[in-house]
Amino acid sequence: MNDARLNVEQVEADVLCIGGGPAGLCAAIRASEQGAKVVVIDKSHTLRSGDAGMGNDHFMCHIPDVQGELPGFFNKIGKMSQAVTKTFWENAYDLVKLWDSWGIPMKYEGRYEFAGHSIPGYPNFMLHFSGQNTKVKLTKQAKKAGAKIINRVMILDLIHDNGTIAGAIGFDVRNPKLLVFKTKAVILATGKCMRLFPQNTGSLFNTSTSPVNTGDGRAMAYRAGCELTDMELNDRWSGPKYFARNGRGSWTGVFRDPNGIQIDPGNEMPAHFYPELHENYQKSGRGPLYMDLSDISDEDYEYMKHFLIHEANTPILDFFKEEGVDPREHPFEFMTYGLITPGGINYNEKCETPLAGLFAAGDEFMSFYIAGAAVFGSIAGESAAAFAAQAKPLDEKRAQIPVVTAKELLESVLNRTDGATWQEANNAIQQVMADYCGLIRSETLLTAGLEHLRRLKKKVPQVLMAQNQHELMRCVEVLNLFDIGEITFVAARERKETRQYHRRTDFPFENPIIGAQTLAVKKENGQPVPKWIMKA
Ligand SMILES: Cc1cc2nc3c(=O)[nH]c(=O)nc-3n(C[C@H](O)[C@H](O)[C@H](O)COP(=O)(O)OP(=O)(O)OC[C@H]3O[C@@H](n4cnc5c(N)ncnc54)[C@H](O)[C@@H]3O)c2cc1C
Repeated sequence: MNDARLNVEQVEADVLCIGGGPAGLCAAIRASEQGAKVVVIDKSHTLRSGDAGMGNDHFMCHIPDVQGELPGFFNKIGKMSQAVTKTFWENAYDLVKLWDSWGIPMKYEGRYEFAGHSIPGYPNFMLHFSGQNTKVKLTKQAKKAGAKIINRVMILDLIHDNGTIAGAIGFDVRNPKLLVFKTKAVILATGKCMRLFPQNTGSLFNTSTSPVNTGDGRAMAYRAGCELTDMELNDRWSGPKYFARNGRGSWTGVFRDPNGIQIDPGNEMPAHFYPELHENYQKSGRGPLYMDLSDISDEDYEYMKHFLIHEANTPILDFFKEEGVDPREHPFEFMTYGLITPGGINYNEKCETPLAGLFAAGDEFMSFYIAGAAVFGSIAGESAAAFAAQAKPLDEKRAQIPVVTAKELLESVLNRTDGATWQEANNAIQQVMADYCGLIRSETLLTAGLEHLRRLKKKVPQVLMAQNQHELMRCVEVLNLFDIGEITFVAARERKETRQYHRRTDFPFENPIIGAQTLAVKKENGQPVPKWIMKA
């Protein structure tokens, strides 16, 4: 038995941004500009953390002078409400101009360039930008605006004051410190939820988007009483084999089968339009499928490489270099990765959540990616600053500040010398999710799987052990995954139809009546309870 103790420290501010990705940083910039005292917390380091840490290369937006009028159906793109979608298209170009003024190159050779990730016959709305250093620029801008950034702190849970969110509790991932943040408004911007389902690459961290984003924001919002939506409607990606970075839209070649027959139109379609192509070829024995770059010109190859580098595809380019492989002479395989979780906190066009004082932005609900993070980050900053300006200070006597519970949980994990590592627990949940709530779902499978998950969920906090603060962060991530996993099971059991990758063998058809509704899951009496709501 070890004797680790966490010292408690307090931090006060008007607005707390949890997560320092583009959403959290844009929120911090806008809230600071409104006069709020802002703190940004990131469990990694805002310079290179999260999904955008190593770069992005396309920014969804509408620039009328370049694209002309967009068809009306664009106001229905995305998975969020029409008001959110409309707000997105109306604001994205302003963010392009703002980012450009902050030194993020939004133009290519002096012009706005829409290319890649296109759908044949439709206007392209993906602006190619050179975003390798986006986070460096946003961090600089946030500091310039007056926000305080605290890196290497993981937020664990939210503080409630009579139904209003008024801060959070976190811990240092390097030093034995527990931090209590007392604030008037909180913005959740912790990105996506990875590591819940296995990604078919043989490694917990070889994932198509950042493996350190484990749905922490979703989990803490849920525990505080916020509903989560669309948690059962999973998605899939495809990309280079064993280099789990989704990326069909960035590779300008064509797919060929082993006999050299071209099997796609070669128009840089987004990866998520047919991710299962590779798996289907594999399963039928006709695979693998190869990305063939042999026909592209030197100029196009250099152009493609430029944006691959800006989109964080450097590992595969470095690998080709190390192995002395010229990808134009050696077609390489693609594969279909595992399930991911796009659903989450369905914030509105002002980034409000159902809980007063709690705002959310960016990939807390995965819909408009980096451009959405920029637009809704800024809006969340504005809304949170306005809320904080009229909010009363935290009532210490009334507020639920779970310091003792948090301290006990974290110290028990740190002090255990015999038990399970976070990797074992993470593998266990991935196994249960894949086997019982994966691509084949049914009442019997979901019921059996939920029982396994709940048994593990109860046991895991009693056996998890961490040798240091860093491992403690991994353990807490896994505990969050257990909450998200349970919610996913409950929602998948409630949705008695087949839709997207939610495939019920006992309800094999899509139900058009259900299509007009959204499934929300909320915590009631300690349990996740599903509820159908009309789509906004
Ligand atoms: C390699 C790659 C390339 C991509 N390319 C594109 C592209 O070209 N175009 C596009 O539109 N999208 C792209 N995406 C997606 C895009 O990067 C994301 O949509 C965008 O970064 C979302 O921003 P965000 O701020 O919501 O989340 P993130 O950028 O993921 O930031 C979340 C932050 O929260 C922090 N965090 C998480 N949990 C906690 C916690 N408990 N406590 C404290 N901090 C926490 C993380 O460390 C991270 O810094 C790409 C993604 C990847 C992985």
